[in-house]
Amino acid sequence: MNQRTEATNLERGRVLAARVETFVREQIIPFERDPRQGAHGPNDDLVTELRNMARSAGLLTPNILDDGTHLSHAETALVLRAAGLSPLGPVALNVAAPDEGNMYLLRHVASPAQKALFLQPMIDGRLRSAFFMTEPAEDNGAGSDPSMMQTTAHRDGDDWVINGRKAFITGADGAGVGILMAKSEQGTTMFLVPLPDPAIRIERVMNTLDSSTPGGHSVISIEGLRVQASQILGTSGEGFKYAQIRLAPARLTHCMRWLGACIRAQEIATSYAVRRRAFGQALIDHEGVGFMLADNKIDLKQAELMIDWCAGVLDGGAQGTVESSMTKVAVSEALFRVVDRCVQVMGGTGVTRDTVVEQIFREVRAFRIYDGPTEVHKWSLARKIKNEAMKETPR
Ligand SMILES: Cc1cc2nc3c(=O)[nH]c(=O)nc-3n(C[C@H](O)[C@H](O)[C@H](O)COP(=O)(O)OP(=O)(O)OC[C@H]3O[C@@H](n4cnc5c(N)ncnc54)[C@H](O)[C@@H]3O)c2cc1C
Repeated sequence: MNQRTEATNLERGRVLAARVETFVREQIIPFERDPRQGAHGPNDDLVTELRNMARSAGLLTPNILDDGTHLSHAETALVLRAAGLSPLGPVALNVAAPDEGNMYLLRHVASPAQKALFLQPMIDGRLRSAFFMTEPAEDNGAGSDPSMMQTTAHRDGDDWVINGRKAFITGADGAGVGILMAKSEQGTTMFLVPLPDPAIRIERVMNTLDSSTPGGHSVISIEGLRVQASQILGTSGEGFKYAQIRLAPARLTHCMRWLGACIRAQEIATSYAVRRRAFGQALIDHEGVGFMLADNKIDLKQAELMIDWCAGVLDGGAQGTVESSMTKVAVSEALFRVVDRCVQVMGGTGVTRDTVVEQIFREVRAFRIYDGPTEVHKWSLARKIKNEAMKETPR
């Protein structure tokens, strides 16, 4: 991309992000206390109402253009950061996980028939999806190590029959389509499964720290699920390759949304610290408090720069596996420090549900685990460092 095109496109992203920010601040934040949300996220009634508002504002699924192409990753960074200013923003705008990453994957891998059946209704914000990869720890199934996958897919005539269990499946409860990963003789394969299906049973919706995603996170059992060959996403045996297509951009969009949320937490904590007084002065004038807010400002800027760097790598056409891994670690760890300090600055109020800071704290804690726990990314980076070092001629 030449410099002029890049500047023009970023300007488009900036304009869109400004509209999204106004929409989220003025129209979505007032719903944060809406009783139609609980431990397992906002209910369908609230999601529909918020999406209708976004549709009316011309801001539903703003990252996907009318011709089906996506904004550049750099533009997406601006728009999703604005969407993330409220935990309800991504859901309202239809840019939340797992749908946003699933739409990206379907655009790149699904057949025209699969796109018409599933992708278009998702873009229209009328169909939710789920990504079925992780399996229960008690079965020693796929977790940090996806190669431990135990769910199987066997050919039976023209059909495939799938059996297994899955865990932590975000949004499975209420989803209209699932991308299901299973081990077949050809290798790991992705299947597109219309939901609900009697062969896919929600054992339980798990009680988790976080609470922003519709449907929560479920443990699922799959018993004798029969699917046709036309339901394979792409080619059989290529599941891990397709997971890579989704991986880097999806990691990065999580960083974008949670950066927005932590910018908001910092705003709330700052407002508290300039108004609240102790020992004869505003809290912010106590060095211990001022330093926490200053450290936050530094961490937020570093997170923003890492995201922009990685977005540039992806926009340059690279897969960005290493860059997105580094960015995911740096941003999730930095944002957790930021929101933890926000809670601390706000004293007792920080741990109450009087402000959204408490929810952001819970959400960002979980972010250090999904899309690869910090330690797994570091372990993988360390292996690359070792391999490169072993190639070098000793001096
Ligand atoms: C809120 C939430 C939503 C999720 N949504 C989905 C979803 O929609 N679909 C889906 O398929 N999955 C989902 N997951 C699952 C998520 O991807 C897994 O939790 C993650 O991959 C870790 O797997 P695990 O929980 O089995 O942890 P384990 O594999 O049991 O790992 C436990 C810990 O061991 C350590 N560890 C593991 N390997 C190494 C290593 N090589 N070096 C050093 N330390 C290591 C890490 O600290 C890690 O946190 C979600 C998880 C959460 C928390």
